[in-house]
Amino acid sequence: MRGHPDATHHASETHGLPNHVESFVTMNVSSADRLLTLYLFRPILRRLGAERQFRIPILMYHSVSRQAATGNHSYYELNTSAEAFDLQMSHLKNDGYRIIGLGEAVDRVSGSNSENAVKGEKVAVLTFDDGFRNFHDHAYPILKKYGFGATVFLSTDYIDRDRRIFEGRECMTWEEIRFLSDEGIIFGSHAVTHEPLISMDMQTVKMELMQSKERIESETGKPVDYFSYPYRYPEHDKEFIRSIESLLALAGYRAAVSTRIGTVKKGDGVYSLKRIPISTNDGGRMLAAKLEGAYDWLYRLQSWKKRSLFLYSLLGRRTSKSQ
Ligand SMILES: [Zn+2]
Repeated sequence: MRGHPDATHHASETHGLPNHVESFVTMNVSSADRLLTLYLFRPILRRLGAERQFRIPILMYHSVSRQAATGNHSYYELNTSAEAFDLQMSHLKNDGYRIIGLGEAVDRVSGSNSENAVKGEKVAVLTFDDGFRNFHDHAYPILKKYGFGATVFLSTDYIDRDRRIFEGRECMTWEEIRFLSDEGIIFGSHAVTHEPLISMDMQTVKMELMQSKERIESETGKPVDYFSYPYRYPEHDKEFIRSIESLLALAGYRAAVSTRIGTVKKGDGVYSLKRIPISTNDGGRMLAAKLEGAYDWLYRLQSWKKRSLFLYSLLGRRTSKSQ
């Protein structure tokens, strides 16, 4: 039985790791990810000239609030303080990043856009999961100040005329969403119930993909082209991935973003785009390193941990949270 969603449960969405499983690895990663990114992988990338390779960082945010710190380690942190968010946006601006939409990103990686990487060009995409009210109250005014667009993914069970709560935080109402949509913010689907799709039969998955899309389209009057997977992306379950990709295409989605860590490169699959988690702990140097791809190494560890979890599930060993 699934427990009540709490901070820990939600944290597992970001990186796909129930944090009591193999916690020794997580602990080591938690204390080491920043040091390794800044002092090992970034210098290596720079020496190889790889930081100049064309890549698109799709930044993943959840909550942008007045709250300065939650005490979570950056590996699990889902909140960004409004001050930190403002500094991060100013860094993007000053560092010459152009904020593009997912549509342009998809065109660039799938090669349907003929003029590809302009030398030295820096582009990034901004995404926000869960549709929290604080996007409207705190993130949007800052985005507007810098002239940046963003895509926000909504789980439609948590959005209504009256305010609803998800994971202890207030969500936006349709009225606020319509206002933001008119202002140019793009809305995508984060399914209906925000439950892990892997635990559902395909008929239910299809309903989650289609109903959420139709609802957002009817409320905003604009097409919904993008999907964000709730919880971890089951990348080792090839059969599930094949099925869900065909359902996404059938439902009319152009692309989907996942919680797999990394920058996006030409040729990457459009229905499992990687993202870079950003939180309140990312100051200018760490943000710059992540944008350049110096955080991508974490994907290998994430992937290895997921594979071992997948093997556990094949062997019938399940943790309480995955049931
Ligand atoms: Zn979510």
